[in-house]
Amino acid sequence: MDNETVFYRELPKVELHAHLNGSVSSQTIEKLIGRKPHLNIEHSMTAIGKGQLRTLDECFEVFKVIHKLVDTEEDILMVATDVIKEFAADGVKYLELRSTPREEKDTGLTKRSYIETVINAIQQCKSEGVDIDVRFLVAIDRRNGTEVAMETVKLAEDFMLSSDGLVVGLDLSGDPTVGHGKDLLPALQRAKNSGLKLSLHLSEVPSQLEETDLLLNLPPDRIGHGTFLHPAVGGSQSLVDKVVKNNIPLELCLTSNVKGSTVARYSDHHFKYWYQLGHPSVICTDDKGVFCTDLSQEYHLAASTFGLSRADMWKLSQQAIDCIFAPEAVKQQLKQKWNDLHPQVFK
Ligand code: 5GP
Repeated sequence: MDNETVFYRELPKVELHAHLNGSVSSQTIEKLIGRKPHLNIEHSMTAIGKGQLRTLDECFEVFKVIHKLVDTEEDILMVATDVIKEFAADGVKYLELRSTPREEKDTGLTKRSYIETVINAIQQCKSEGVDIDVRFLVAIDRRNGTEVAMETVKLAEDFMLSSDGLVVGLDLSGDPTVGHGKDLLPALQRAKNSGLKLSLHLSEVPSQLEETDLLLNLPPDRIGHGTFLHPAVGGSQSLVDKVVKNNIPLELCLTSNVKGSTVARYSDHHFKYWYQLGHPSVICTDDKGVFCTDLSQEYHLAASTFGLSRADMWKLSQQAIDCIFAPEAVKQQLKQKWNDLHPQVFK
């Protein structure tokens, strides 16, 4: 490993935007394929390699293939424990995983047992002493409409109260070209009122000014992507002003956006805009398995693309602590951890 690679691996990091089924590594996919050879799924169908580009539609097709491979409690337990351990091995000290609870009639999987299994995986890793604090966001897939969104919020509320602080919020994701945010507003409002934190995928594709404006009024606690918020790419100053005024952090995923073709080149990535503004921006992976990356690589990529120093990248990872959904005491513990690790990382 070269010097730079070692630095970014050792840099303590916070991962706030990681979809569980998009984060499955090639090793875990091999194990899943071994469990289900009859599906005839090849690894090339579940990952987008170096230099490959896809449309966003094609990316969503990849998730469907992975969902076929992950359809029992046993699969979810394996996937979640593997993903957590991989993030820990990459130097991630705090992780918020998100996932859309699914029901599978054939295997008896229910939405409730889906969430319970992810929670079990988190607890199992903790009991094994894996050095990472993991929390969970229950995801709403916007394709599934109003009723499912409300049902998901109710489930998330139950788990927020019964999971010993592990379920901290709600994610809104799924194909951004399907459905409209206004139909999901009552569910999101209810979630907010009950104390769930909200991370919403917003302006991931162009021409969603009206929807974004509506959802920004909630306001959400964090924004996923926000690729088309600013005026230069067809967004607007008033959207930017709302984000800035409410100090809503952005979760930014460079490789995902370039491979999914919503950003043409790394140097065009909106990280630059928000970073220059001094707005809280957190580098994340999105789907480390599908996009063949990890958080160390994303930090390294941001530094090399935008000419940032190691000290700048340390500051970015440290500032991400203020954007987590876990309570203040956890932020303090993490800040202490960063202080303790500083001499070792800059040795
Ligand atoms: P899961 O929720 O099954 O654990 O993870 C896969 C799901 O996350 C996908 O089906 C999709 O709903 C969501 N997802 C993953 N990556 C993206 C992304 O880049 N944009 C959006 N809007 N949704 C995503």
